[in-house]
Amino acid sequence: MVPPEARLLDEVTRQPTQLCYEWAVDAEDSAARYSGQHHMSVVAQRCREEKYPEAYRAFRLLLVRRPVLTHRELATLPAAAGSDLGSLGDLLYDVYQPAPAGHLDRERRSYVSCKRCHGLLHPTTGGGLWCEQRQCHEAGTVRRGREYRADEGGGVQLLIRPLRRWVSAPGLMEKRLADQLTDIGAEVELWPGFGAYGMRVRFPSGPTLAVDCKDWTSPALLGRRAAPPPPDPPYDRCLWVIPAGRLRDHPDFRAVFERYRPSASPELVTDRELLRTARRLVAAGRPYEDINPAAPGEAPEGLF
Ligand SMILES: [Zn+2]
Repeated sequence: MVPPEARLLDEVTRQPTQLCYEWAVDAEDSAARYSGQHHMSVVAQRCREEKYPEAYRAFRLLLVRRPVLTHRELATLPAAAGSDLGSLGDLLYDVYQPAPAGHLDRERRSYVSCKRCHGLLHPTTGGGLWCEQRQCHEAGTVRRGREYRADEGGGVQLLIRPLRRWVSAPGLMEKRLADQLTDIGAEVELWPGFGAYGMRVRFPSGPTLAVDCKDWTSPALLGRRAAPPPPDPPYDRCLWVIPAGRLRDHPDFRAVFERYRPSASPELVTDRELLRTARRLVAAGRPYEDINPAAPGEAPEGLF
């Protein structure tokens, strides 16, 4: 299932690795406990009852953009002008908890956030700083973002780990991809149906896609979870998107995913492939069914 050099604990921070968390949600009986699913279901349920999809999206965007809040922000954000968080304010206290001491710079009595993902950086045994989001340290040196005094705003609060891992991290990728697809000319709705799936993408004369971003370390563990999302809101095809870099690092990622998947859907594509195909669909304005993947002139990596 995993390569021999894979680790469950990170050497420099003594923290569980991403692979460790992927393994934790692999077992069905522990998936709910480690995935944070319960918290998001409570939010979805309440927004559904109140017929308030904007609140669901606002909550999810907050988790993506602000994994760190001060205690004061926790209390004031829902009531702020223009906030759609509305009646979800009390639920914030379930998902943000006092920042763990492991992240604290004991000399400066402060926490430092990551410039890219805005989560809290972790001091390493070598005196450096480390971000738990793989894409941040893969991008090169981890960059320092905002610094919080330990007692700032009544204390620093950090989004709980399952939601950082399974909502914030893919959410960052989903938000970026949604913006890029919108720029190209697609119609994109993030987290439709109160989070039934990542985004619903429609093209002027083409298909409706259900898209989820899945940046997993293990193609085998990801493959084992392959299943189409709920059919509502409806879609024509469903895709799981991985960063193109994942295929560069592990050329057999797709083959291993295919070997372990129990279902033919969703299709696995990279973010680059999806964007390239979206550009072509919009430029050509052709119906989706007319695009033959084997047709001459189509880029070999094209999706449809
Ligand atoms: Zn980061």
